[in-house]
Amino acid sequence: MYNSFRETEQGGALKDSHGRVIDYLRISLTDRCNFRCVYCMPESGVCSMGHDEILRIEEIERLVRVAAGLGIRSVRLTGGEPLVRKGVVDLVGAITAIDGIENVSMTTNGVLLPAMVDDLRAAGLSRVNISLDTLDPDQFRAITRVGRLEDTLAGIDAALEAGLAPVKVNAVTVRSLNQDFLAFAKLSIDRPLHVRFIEYMPVGNAEGEGGTGWGKADVIPSEELCELISAQAAAAGLPALVPASKSSKPVGWGPARYFEFPGAAGTVGFISPLSRHFCSECNRLRVTADGKVRPCLFSDHELDVREALRNGDDEVVRAVLLAALGAKPDEHHDKVGTERNMSQIGG
Ligand code: SAM
Ligand code: SF4
Repeated sequence: MYNSFRETEQGGALKDSHGRVIDYLRISLTDRCNFRCVYCMPESGVCSMGHDEILRIEEIERLVRVAAGLGIRSVRLTGGEPLVRKGVVDLVGAITAIDGIENVSMTTNGVLLPAMVDDLRAAGLSRVNISLDTLDPDQFRAITRVGRLEDTLAGIDAALEAGLAPVKVNAVTVRSLNQDFLAFAKLSIDRPLHVRFIEYMPVGNAEGEGGTGWGKADVIPSEELCELISAQAAAAGLPALVPASKSSKPVGWGPARYFEFPGAAGTVGFISPLSRHFCSECNRLRVTADGKVRPCLFSDHELDVREALRNGDDEVVRAVLLAALGAKPDEHHDKVGTERNMSQIGG
């Protein structure tokens, strides 16, 4: 298996054993967070990883260098909350400078963006996904348990002002939360914001006691949501959503299906990990903050790259990445629950 990857490498792109091109690495910088979102982590927070357990900034940089040599072209930094990780700006700069890396992006709750976005942009951050599930201040507090809506909105403003593009707003949809989806979709009209609705996923201790409370009934299939938003738009006198033209789709559009209100500055996307598996288009590997490579979000199978980084040469690190590639399943087969929750895996 290892040899077959080497052969494909020589052809340029790195492919897994199912023929998918893998060029995207998603790295969790920390399992810590300044929020406690109900669907992501317990109220008490997670039992934080020790200082020695998490990958050091130089280790992450080296990992990306080796991965770039294999064919990784895009890196997304996530967490936990990536902006609470010390050294994140330097890391963005270091990764951006690596040969072969074409873009470095980040997924964040946005709170620390106003203070950091200019430095991040100067260091080479090109795009950002900001997570926001409601525009109602009380509901925002209820979902994040500790956050303030105005802080995340200020993060969105700061990202746009700093010229990051695209700026995507990711909203997890949960039926029992009764979110105002039309209000969200309308965010895409006046400013170049790409709103994406993401189906609630059974990650972590999903259905178990003390878990995130995930249940199938709370998943709103994207198809249903798109129809609902269109009906609400019609009732509000807005034109219907139409499939987004190629030129209006945001760069790095990934697994989302995009729509737009005619003439809008941004788009409305739907990401359907459950109702419409996009496993056949999966292009990524994930690395947890403590240095485990995770071939699939929904599988607990992990490979230890921290050990390789601390005690091996680059060839050993490459071997771990290639083994992870070989371990990528064809699809997630509707698995429910994972040992780690989303903040520990890196959503
Ligand atoms: N703290 C950052 C943030 O919130 O953007 C980055 C980490 S967070 C784990 C990454 C993304 O995962 C967020 O957009 C969050 O909404 C999403 N997420 C967390 N738990 C989820 C779940 N059970 N289903 C779907 N998305 C989830
Ligand atoms: Fe923190 Fe992001 Fe998880 Fe919310 S979704 S608790 S902001 S890591």
